[in-house]
Amino acid sequence: MKETVKILLLEDNIYDAELIHHQILKSSIKHQFKHVFEFDDFMETIDDYIPDIILSDYNLVGFTGLDALEFAKQKCPLTPFIIVTGTIDEETAAETIKKGAWDYVVKERLTRLDSAMKKALQLKEEIEKSAINREKLKISEERFKLAIEGSQDGIWDWDLKSNEIYLSSRWKSMLGYEDHEIENNYSSWESLLHPDDKELTIAALGNHLKKETPFYKAEFRLKCKNGQYKWIFARGKAIYDKNNKPYRVAGSQTDISEQKLMEIRLIKAKEKAEESDRLKTAFLSNMSHEIRTPMNGILGFAGLLKEPKLESYKQKEFIELIEKSGLRMLNIINDIIDISKIEAGLMKIDKKYSNVNEQIEYIDTFFKPEAEEKGLKLTFKNTLPTDEAVIFTDREKVFAIITNLVKNAIKYTNKGSIEFGYNRKETQLEFYVKDTGIGIQKDRLVAIFERFIQADIMDKMALQGAGLGLTITKSYVEMLGGTIWVESKEGLGSTFYFTLPYDTEKNEKHHTNNEIILDQEECTILPKSLDLKILIAEDDETSASLLTIISKKFSHKIIKTINGIETVEACRNNPDIDLILMDIKMQKMDGYKATKQIREFNKNVIIIAQTAYGLSGDKEKAIESGCNDYLSKPINSKILLTLIKKHFYKG
Ligand code: ADP
Repeated sequence: MKETVKILLLEDNIYDAELIHHQILKSSIKHQFKHVFEFDDFMETIDDYIPDIILSDYNLVGFTGLDALEFAKQKCPLTPFIIVTGTIDEETAAETIKKGAWDYVVKERLTRLDSAMKKALQLKEEIEKSAINREKLKISEERFKLAIEGSQDGIWDWDLKSNEIYLSSRWKSMLGYEDHEIENNYSSWESLLHPDDKELTIAALGNHLKKETPFYKAEFRLKCKNGQYKWIFARGKAIYDKNNKPYRVAGSQTDISEQKLMEIRLIKAKEKAEESDRLKTAFLSNMSHEIRTPMNGILGFAGLLKEPKLESYKQKEFIELIEKSGLRMLNIINDIIDISKIEAGLMKIDKKYSNVNEQIEYIDTFFKPEAEEKGLKLTFKNTLPTDEAVIFTDREKVFAIITNLVKNAIKYTNKGSIEFGYNRKETQLEFYVKDTGIGIQKDRLVAIFERFIQADIMDKMALQGAGLGLTITKSYVEMLGGTIWVESKEGLGSTFYFTLPYDTEKNEKHHTNNEIILDQEECTILPKSLDLKILIAEDDETSASLLTIISKKFSHKIIKTINGIETVEACRNNPDIDLILMDIKMQKMDGYKATKQIREFNKNVIIIAQTAYGLSGDKEKAIESGCNDYLSKPINSKILLTLIKKHFYKG
């Protein structure tokens, strides 16, 4: 009960009013008291005073207690209204109760007023409390509903006895279903489970129900309306009856597809990183072996050469071995440089018109001795007439591609034959290199084009090689707009194919490259009479001696300089010089600059640049600065002799 109860009395008889007040004062109710005589006052006071309880006479002048009751019910329905009357009969009393009065007290027995008031006030309090509770419950239910439907999580609540599962709308919409499209029972949930996840998910639920695990938690896939699966993380808790038997389990579920996808990607990336790490390590140790082996040969046989009484045939043998090892080392270094350039995106394409028939013929000539030495028959087929075999492509790269494939074919074939060539397939030329060699295992057919793979496999059949050749080859083919693939049967042989666009748009303007490529025999034979005055501009002593030795075949007047400034000077002082072998990388002034300066006063001297292999654009830069030709380092004597013949042999 409130501490101070506000009482309003409507009574037109002053004596009765005093009597009633007196009676109230005798009660234990702590109160404020207000008395009004008339209906108008009553109406006003209800609004201002806001009573906790109303006492009203029944027979009033001009109105009855029922009118007051009607008014009070409108204004304050929860305020107890007690009729206090002297004249009322039982029937009227019952009528007032029916109309909404809370009680009635007869004036003759006013002593009952105290208990009637207390009872009414108590009832009021109870009503108010339960109304508040009802309101609270309603709010919390609404809040819960809002939380369920508004949450990103789906809610499920499974009644284990009836096997009904309440699935919230969000639960269903998470998978793309409308509310009515999924029935609320266990089997509709189970039917959505991914077959691979069924066993584990149901087992996890079972373990939880058996109290073997605390929070039910599981990750599984559920089928969406569109047929795809989503990754779900579900958690839940069982409720047990007094016999410890679970009767209900409820929880929520979250769509974790995105996280899962990230997780899967991360795992893949990690595996890839580990794999590439492993391959790199394997590659490095293989590379180290590949470099050390020829190095061993070079240093070892060079040491043996020092033997003072070495027979000349032995000497020749050792020198040949040193040469072979050097070549092998050069191949490895070239491959490493190429792959590094490809990886770094520095490999440029330099398209020119190129006659594939000529290239194929040249490669055939070049490899014939090697094939024959192994007892293999090497043949080629050019299927287009020469004037139609000109395509706009990167000549050097096409050369490298075919060379690599033919080289491999010889390497991996022990008996039989190798045939290579091309066929025109509409807008493409399809090249092939076919051998009758050892073939390639089916499961390695794709891997052989992957970098470092050779290094990773314990392939007893693999012969010398770092496993970069095909990777480089594939990159080149793709750079030129083609594709490469292989067909192979273990023990029977392999055919490598690649395509190049048959790009002949400007065919008619084509001039064949004016480089003369002589066959090996031809290039070593020089006219005896050649005796040139040569200037060797070279700052590396070993390279200079090598050039001097080679040059002695066609000269006995050799001048040597070690930087650009000296070279220009020497040239000015010796206007009769026939040939300058110009190193590009020199101290003080480089070869390009020196050539430019020489061209200012000497247009006739033949200048051949020696360019460091692998630096893109060297060749073009050399020609631009005024050189007649170029040579790649390390200097190959046969090629140098070919160039000498080209520039000095006049018939
Ligand atoms: P490598 O320099 O080691 O020869 P490649 O990249 O050129 O490396 O070749 C990769 C691998 O592919 C070789 O080690 C070899 O196992 C296989 N392979 C390449 N060409 C042939 C071929 N014509 N016949 C059989 N196996 C080949």
